[in-house]
Amino acid sequence: MILILGANVDQNAPEYKQLLTQLAAMQGIQTRVHVERGAQQTLTEIYLIGNTKALDAAEMKNLPCVERVVRVSEEYRILGRHKDEQRDTHFDYNGVRFGQDTLNVFAGLCAVDNREHVELMMKAVRDNGQKCTRMGAYKPRTSPYAFQGHGKNCLNYVFELAGKYDIKVIAMEITHESHLNEIKEALHQTGNPTGVMLQIGTRNTQNFELLKIVGRQTELPVLLKRGFGITLDESLNAAEYLASEGNRKVVFGLRGMKTNMGDPHRNMVDFAHVPVVKRLTRMPVCVDPSHSVGTRQSSPDGILDVMHVTAQGVLAGANMVLVDFHPAPNMALVDGPQAMLLKELPYFLEDVQIARDAYLKRVALRQKQDW
Ligand code: PEP
Ligand code: MN
Repeated sequence: MILILGANVDQNAPEYKQLLTQLAAMQGIQTRVHVERGAQQTLTEIYLIGNTKALDAAEMKNLPCVERVVRVSEEYRILGRHKDEQRDTHFDYNGVRFGQDTLNVFAGLCAVDNREHVELMMKAVRDNGQKCTRMGAYKPRTSPYAFQGHGKNCLNYVFELAGKYDIKVIAMEITHESHLNEIKEALHQTGNPTGVMLQIGTRNTQNFELLKIVGRQTELPVLLKRGFGITLDESLNAAEYLASEGNRKVVFGLRGMKTNMGDPHRNMVDFAHVPVVKRLTRMPVCVDPSHSVGTRQSSPDGILDVMHVTAQGVLAGANMVLVDFHPAPNMALVDGPQAMLLKELPYFLEDVQIARDAYLKRVALRQKQDW
């Protein structure tokens, strides 16, 4: 059960203290307080854990400061929808809104290789009216002998260049707590010229200790990729780890499943789950066409498979597209074969817009039906 308190409740007010005292007196019920500070208001939610079935919702609503009561199933307590249409399905970060009704494209480098490529990439992103990009500094690789990313050595120039090109959010994978500290330190050192969305990759979806560490900080939002060999439910529970530790600025990323049934694509594209994740949770949903498809093959219509699956995801209501581009894919140190070319960026964005417009038309058509 969740008690949603009135906006801007003062934690020092006597009514608030009275509420906590009354909750503390309830046998077998533990409480967990979540405070969400937004631009306009502060929202306080109190999660009741334990034998809440016996509690009467109407009585709980009469407690001091309580505005609404939501009964939750065991699953995804914080991020789940629980048939409640009033709780937020968006968050704002560094001036960019991420929600179940918005769309942001993160075109960028799979891996940072050098300053020149970072700058060319960011300039192209800016010139095409975009505010977000992807830049891998820490790369989890199958082979220990493969390039592992420049790590903290590239952070300062990546952030400075992002500031120069007015990039507001960079998606950047981390695989260890030290990476989080290095990113925060570099942002601080460079005067916070940009923002970072921490990416938890598919190999770490169930790295619970990493999830807890990332969840305990609420400054940076998180893109959690679906695990490539586990069920959707298991991946959604992994997202819930982040929220249960305090960070609910979470985007859920679909990136394909590892099975030979998907051949000749690198992974079996799973974008049919976009509406499923939006139905089950309040998270915005990201699709990663590059790591799903893994090649630059195209069909007889001349359209790359990467673009076909992007359109499929967006047509189904995806809220974010994470996609590999590179100024010189043959020189890329990671995933060159799947990267799109900078000259293709305007074309890619126009194609995404066609799919987005079609999605919005589909939503409007549904709303016109009177059943
Ligand atoms: C990536 O986005 O660079 C990446 C490694 O993705 P994934 O974790 O989905 O393989
Ligand atoms: Mn990659």
